[in-house]
Amino acid sequence: MKPTGKVWFVGAGPGDSELLTLKAQRLLKEAGAVLYAGSLVSQEALAWCPEDCVLQDSKGMDLEEINHWLFTQVSNHKTVVRLQTGDPSLYGALVEMANPLIDSGVEIGMVPGVSSAFASAAAAQESLTLPEVTQTVILTRVAGRTPMPEGESLVELAKHHCTLCLFLSITLLKKVVKELLEAGWSPEATIVVVQKASWPDEEKVFRAPLNQIEATCFDAGVRSQAMIIASPTVDARHQPDLKKSKLYDRSFGHQFRPSK
Ligand code: SAH
Repeated sequence: MKPTGKVWFVGAGPGDSELLTLKAQRLLKEAGAVLYAGSLVSQEALAWCPEDCVLQDSKGMDLEEINHWLFTQVSNHKTVVRLQTGDPSLYGALVEMANPLIDSGVEIGMVPGVSSAFASAAAAQESLTLPEVTQTVILTRVAGRTPMPEGESLVELAKHHCTLCLFLSITLLKKVVKELLEAGWSPEATIVVVQKASWPDEEKVFRAPLNQIEATCFDAGVRSQAMIIASPTVDARHQPDLKKSKLYDRSFGHQFRPSK
């Protein structure tokens, strides 16, 4: 028989439980079962779950076990939540968890979350776009065990000289540095690394020139849960002739404000 419940893939945000959306909170309050990524999702988020909610850490589970668990729980509960770190659409193994459910006729839903890319920008108090510096952000990673598709090597992407938010790459920092240099980035370009963005009392922000960032992170023991931000905006913000956005420009009128 087809289960009548629904599995929600919910973004838990980057760590701070205050960054959970109201919709995520509501679903956790209603959930009969919650599967969470224990190493990355704050335990505080689970405090919203009802007392009799079935809680399961996915840390030690493989895909088959996860699929089986979700199917079993949605056969018994109206609302099942798969709580994912950051936003569920990024590096979250979403499709392989969702497809077997969809194929079995189970309804699924998705709730966006604050990605660690944006929590890292907030932690470092940086803008990822600036007028006439860069208007583009690439969310990517370097090849590790997962190879990069053709045309998506960091060298190729970095040639755009736009903002790069590098997920899952902190242990490959040497390679990141090498590829950015190969793409023509200055050895003096400031690189930002944020570890555990938004986690109360644990967040750390590092800044160093491209040719020193590896040593900086090595010395600080940064080995996991870190975002690397390479962006021309980081240094450009200090330029005296930095162009301002048209948004608040007096001479630029729009629907809600005439030009002066
Ligand atoms: N879906 C998540 C990303 C999951 S991949 C999101 O939208 O954020 C896991 C990678 O995300 C980590 O290797 C790290 O690069 C990054 N990450 C996750 N949480 C982080 C945090 N709090 N601070 C910095 N980087 C984080």
